[in-house]
Amino acid sequence: MPVNISNSSILDVGLIYHEPAVLEHPRGREILERFPDAERRIVRSHWNIPGLHGNEGAVAEWVQIKRTVLVLGVKKSITTVENGRSADFIAPGHANGCVMACVYCYVPRRKGFANPITTYVNIEDICRGIRRHVGKLGPKTVPNQVDPRYWVYDIGCNSDCSVDALISENVRDLYDLFGELPDAKGSFATKFVNRDLLDYETHGKMRIRFSLMPPSIAKVVDVRTSSIPERIEAINDFVEAGYEVHLNLSPVIYYPDWLRDYAELFQMVNDGTSEKAKRQLQAEIIFLTHNEGLHEVNLQWHPKAEELLWQPAMQEKKISEGGGLNVRYKRGTKGKLVQAFCDLLAREMPYCPVRYAF
Ligand code: SF4
Repeated sequence: MPVNISNSSILDVGLIYHEPAVLEHPRGREILERFPDAERRIVRSHWNIPGLHGNEGAVAEWVQIKRTVLVLGVKKSITTVENGRSADFIAPGHANGCVMACVYCYVPRRKGFANPITTYVNIEDICRGIRRHVGKLGPKTVPNQVDPRYWVYDIGCNSDCSVDALISENVRDLYDLFGELPDAKGSFATKFVNRDLLDYETHGKMRIRFSLMPPSIAKVVDVRTSSIPERIEAINDFVEAGYEVHLNLSPVIYYPDWLRDYAELFQMVNDGTSEKAKRQLQAEIIFLTHNEGLHEVNLQWHPKAEELLWQPAMQEKKISEGGGLNVRYKRGTKGKLVQAFCDLLAREMPYCPVRYAF
């Protein structure tokens, strides 16, 4: 049945590229039925769609492409990757790409910068892959900072699950999978408040990590996302709905008044969350890593954001695992920034342990 997607300013699918094999999958047919008015174009592969991927010149059209284009594909490589920070493992992705346009986002680096959402329709293969991986591990016997009891799988590393849930039931299927797995739970970070997720059965096995930063900075760098007050307001509701809610304080960006603004942000969390939410809250802290190629592209469409992100005097270069040229705060400087940030958090939100900071 066609669905009425309430937030059509975020997503209003008018064109669907899909591989021919998508029609062989129930999820593929279901998604096509959800958007009956969308034009369909068959492509050989969800990778490298001419005119869509890798076209850094199409800056002016990005937002329009993100809002109106959807790609459907069949995921070939079902791999789980070890993580050890936000999660124990990164689950094989059920989607790739995003309708939002955060200026520091690393997700577009593989598929080019317009990078609308690709949804993978073979969710059964993805669930089977996770099930097999957890099965080989057996129970978690040594608690770690990620979780004392369960193996945690990040299901939103290359997309934002809150938006993916507007497109298909993939996210709900993953909730149900973790509900069945005795030794594992799911987790994802998000910058979009999708209240439909409050009705999902979490089975007590889903951790949502709301990303927060000072509202004045989010207005510049978190393009097309839910506002920071909206994200904070959602915390209590998600806790009441059975989620474990953590904070993803990321990316932390240095600028002259950063600690003053973070103190205000932490006060907003103090004022906006219930005792019940506070008792279970934890935080992960990730300082900004930027990228030289992304910097060049951003200068074309959002130079104001680059004034915050690109600070060569404070940053050093580092070749990323994928071979790109990343920049991050210089080693000595960063240690001091991390310490100052953790001290502030401990002072302002003493109830909120830090899972990790780097
Ligand atoms: S919400 Fe996440 S995936 Fe989407 S653009 Fe922002 S950082 Fe990237």
